[in-house]
Amino acid sequence: MNCFYHPDRPAVGSCKHCQRGLCTECTALVEDVLACKDRHEGQARAELQLTARSLFQSQRMGAAYLRNAIFYGLVGVLFAGFGWMQLRFLGLQAVFFILIGAFLLYAAIANYLESRKHK
Ligand SMILES: [Zn+2]
Ligand SMILES: [Zn+2]
Repeated sequence: MNCFYHPDRPAVGSCKHCQRGLCTECTALVEDVLACKDRHEGQARAELQLTARSLFQSQRMGAAYLRNAIFYGLVGVLFAGFGWMQLRFLGLQAVFFILIGAFLLYAAIANYLESRKHK
């Protein structure tokens, strides 16, 4: 591949924004990626920030889902455990507690699975 702006010179890399080949003279270093000097430095920087931000947001969403999973899991175990222990004394009412517990555990698993998508 040769430089897009100097077809007689070999390219040392390609622009992050437009993917064109760049020789040493046309290369601008933005953070740690290459961009067309005086042309796409701004665009490359903006694209880098966008990627970094969406990555950060995804990680935060994952953490939030994980927190929900832990919360639902704990409350679900409490409800189910309480219902299980009281089953002999409360009968149908205890079954109701166990059902709530099971539903919360299901929500915990769903949240946990969702959190793993945001790594
Ligand atoms: Zn470019
Ligand atoms: Zn060039």
